[in-house]
Amino acid sequence: MKKLTIYNTKSRSIEEFIPLSEGVVTMYACGPTVYDFTHIGHMRKYVGDDILKRTLTLLGYTVKHVMNITDVGHLTSDSDEGDDKFEKKAVIEGKTVWEIAEFYTQYFHKSMQAVNVVPPNIEPKATDHISEMIGLVEQLIAKGFAYETEQAVYFDVSKDSSYGSFSGQKLSDKEVAVRDDVIIDPSKKHPADFSLWFKRVGKFRDHSMFWPSPWGNGFPGWHIECSAMSMKYLGDTIDIHTGGIDHIPVHHENEIAQSECATGHDFVRYWVHHDFLHVDGLKMSKSLQNFYTIDDIVARSIKPLAVRLLCMQTSYRKPLNFTWDALEAANAQLKKVYRFAAHQTVVGTMSTPHEEEFIEALADDLNTAKALAVVWEVFNDSTVNDSDKWATLIYFDQVLGLNLDAVPKFGITPEAQTLIQKRDESRVERDFATSDELRTQLEALGYEVLDTTEGTKLL
Ligand SMILES: [Zn+2]
Repeated sequence: MKKLTIYNTKSRSIEEFIPLSEGVVTMYACGPTVYDFTHIGHMRKYVGDDILKRTLTLLGYTVKHVMNITDVGHLTSDSDEGDDKFEKKAVIEGKTVWEIAEFYTQYFHKSMQAVNVVPPNIEPKATDHISEMIGLVEQLIAKGFAYETEQAVYFDVSKDSSYGSFSGQKLSDKEVAVRDDVIIDPSKKHPADFSLWFKRVGKFRDHSMFWPSPWGNGFPGWHIECSAMSMKYLGDTIDIHTGGIDHIPVHHENEIAQSECATGHDFVRYWVHHDFLHVDGLKMSKSLQNFYTIDDIVARSIKPLAVRLLCMQTSYRKPLNFTWDALEAANAQLKKVYRFAAHQTVVGTMSTPHEEEFIEALADDLNTAKALAVVWEVFNDSTVNDSDKWATLIYFDQVLGLNLDAVPKFGITPEAQTLIQKRDESRVERDFATSDELRTQLEALGYEVLDTTEGTKLL
């Protein structure tokens, strides 16, 4: 089995990946907070997870992949400030919080399907795991790592000597960042203490999602959700935990603290973080009106899988600057490959040197740009016959995920035949307006239209 090397945020270095159990990888991915539309920025993160998972699978590992759905407890800031994202959105849309979560979960699924992300083995919802979260908070209180105030149950960062080491932050920096919150709950011992359980009091007195607990009615903090679900399905120590780089300083620092203090074991062995997708140097967001969804892509007649191709052009550890031009270019490349795929009926022999180069690139900290270079090298090599080229591309597609196998095989339908005939007649009559219109109709059927001396030809 070829070894994977991967950048581990924990050690800030590239390490050889060795799972706890031979041949099996436990992987937890922070999932979406389903209060708004999934956009291309989110897609980049999940395509990144998918490339990692497919690479591990290609290398021979069995991957146990858990990704949560956060449907409660995420405030408008990643720490304890602000309002609950769901309660706020429910008011704006005139729906219940449950309806909000359901609608945007479906939109997330639709987006993931469009970019061919393999679904996780388990996709737990936070609201289905409240008892596990309460259990974990009870353990932390029993061990002296958490305390209760009138408003919440907090994790006591002063009891965890390694708190802050993961993100390399000093507690004094955190003090500045969370100062506002101290004013909200004066009983908080340290400004960096974070909420494990919010009570349905104060600013949350009308919170519509709440559950009974030993500390009265309330709801869990966002961070405890991931720890509880990860432990439930994958055990105290997992091999890989993924997330966006924005999760490092708060969410993941807190996940580590509460998990390791509760169990006394290492929580995660390899932390994999994806960099952002930017639009002209800015983060994709609604307020900046640079927020694009799968529907925006389809509306521009771009194939959603062009997003995958675009993502793979840049290392997951570098920012990806999104432009429509770049996506259009990826779409044009994809169409070229699909056109080729549509004509292939015989699977030949895979090129072994290219297979090795491809795996080598991916095993080197998921160097997708290099792997794509191998793909284009094969694709453009005129010395390789089509059936062998096709065999190699199908092999690559296990990680590329461009659905090459599903491309309909080329054939001229009777409908297209009629349009060709009409078009050739209009061209003889020099009626170019009609000829152009018929070209558009043929293109809408998925053909590429060529004008030759013998008339219209389709590809
Ligand atoms: Zn998480």
